[in-house]
Amino acid sequence: MSESNDRADGARADGRKILLQCTPAEIEQLVAAAGGKKFQAKSVRRWVLERGVDDFNKMSDLSKDVAKKLSESCVAVENRVRESRKAPDGTVKLLLELRDGSTIETVWMHGGSDVSGGGTVCISTQVGCAMACKFCASGMNGVVRNLDTYEILEQLSRARQVAPFGRIVVMGIGEPALNLSNVLAALDEVTSPDGLNISARKITISTIGIPEKMKGFLKTEKPYSLAISLHAPNDALRRELIPTAGKVTIRELLMFANHYFKQTGREVTFEYVLLRKVNDRMAQERELAGVLRGARACVNLIPYNPIPGSPYGRPDEETCREFREVLRSCGVVATIRWSKGVEADAACGQLRIARLEAPAAKKI
Ligand code: SF4
Repeated sequence: MSESNDRADGARADGRKILLQCTPAEIEQLVAAAGGKKFQAKSVRRWVLERGVDDFNKMSDLSKDVAKKLSESCVAVENRVRESRKAPDGTVKLLLELRDGSTIETVWMHGGSDVSGGGTVCISTQVGCAMACKFCASGMNGVVRNLDTYEILEQLSRARQVAPFGRIVVMGIGEPALNLSNVLAALDEVTSPDGLNISARKITISTIGIPEKMKGFLKTEKPYSLAISLHAPNDALRRELIPTAGKVTIRELLMFANHYFKQTGREVTFEYVLLRKVNDRMAQERELAGVLRGARACVNLIPYNPIPGSPYGRPDEETCREFREVLRSCGVVATIRWSKGVEADAACGQLRIARLEAPAAKKI
C-alpha cells in the first residue's frame, strides 16, 4: 500500500486540489488562475467525468501552458488503477487505490442489448462493508470508512477509460444506505444534465434493507431502481446469512417495497443469492413464492460465485432454472442473473480481499 498523502485538514500534502472534489465555481477559479478562460471549466470537468481523461495535457482544448499550470494546482483523478483484470466475456474489474492507500473495486460489464452507451458499471460506496453477509468477500474484514462523493464519481471516470456505459449499479463493496448522503450527492451529479445526464431509471441501488435508512431513497423523489437483498424465504435463515439484519423482518421489507412502488411507480427487485443446499431446496422455493405472492416486486436469483475459504457452494444450472420456474408457476416474476466475469474474481470484494496484505481468511 502507498502512504497517505493527506494533510490534517483533508487536503493533499502537496496542496493540489482534486478536480471532482471542487465545486464548478472552484474549477472556474483554478482554470482562470492557470491562464485559461472561465468557460473552459465545464469542458475540463467533462473531460474527466464523461471521457475518463486523467491528464490535463490530453485535453485538446487546453493550451500546453494552461494544462501545465493546472497540473501544478490540481489533480484530475486522485485514485490509481492498481490492477485491471479482464474476463473472456469482456467484463473488466478494476482494483483502485485511494489517497489513503485503501482499495476498492469497480467493474465494467457488457450491459445487454437494451443498454444504450455500451455497458454497465458497478461501483463501490465504502471501503469494506460492515454488513458481514456470510457468503461475501467484501464483508470479511469489516468496514474501514465511507467513500467521499468524489471517490464515488472518480470510479465512473476510471470505468469510462474501459468503455462507454449507460447504466450504473450501486452494488459493489459497501452498504449504500450507510453512506447515503455521499451516494445520493454522487448520483445527483450522475443524473444532472451538467454531469453524466444518465436517467435515474438506469441506476440501480442495492441495499441489504435497513428500513429507517431506506426512507432516504424515497426523499430523493428520483425513480432509482431499488434492489433489496433477501437471500432467504424466512427470517431465521435470513438472520443466519446476514447476521446484521438484526430485528428487520421480511414482512417489513415487503411493506417498504409496496410503499416504494406507490411513491415512485417502480417495483423493487428482491435479490436472492442461490447457495447450494442452503436456500435452494424445493420447500424453500414454495416458501419464497408464498412470501412474495401479490407483492409489487420481482426476484432476481443470483447463482453464488464461490470465494476461497467460503463453505458455500453454487447450485447447478438445472437447480437454478427449476427454482425460477417454481416461482413463476406461483405467479412471482423471477429472473436469473448469471454471473459475469467469473474469471476476473467477479464475486464482490474478491479481488480486493485477495490483494490485502494480510487477509483475514475467515472460516464460517
Ligand atoms: S453482500 Fe453487500 S452488504 Fe453483504 S457484506 Fe457484501 S457488500 Fe456488504
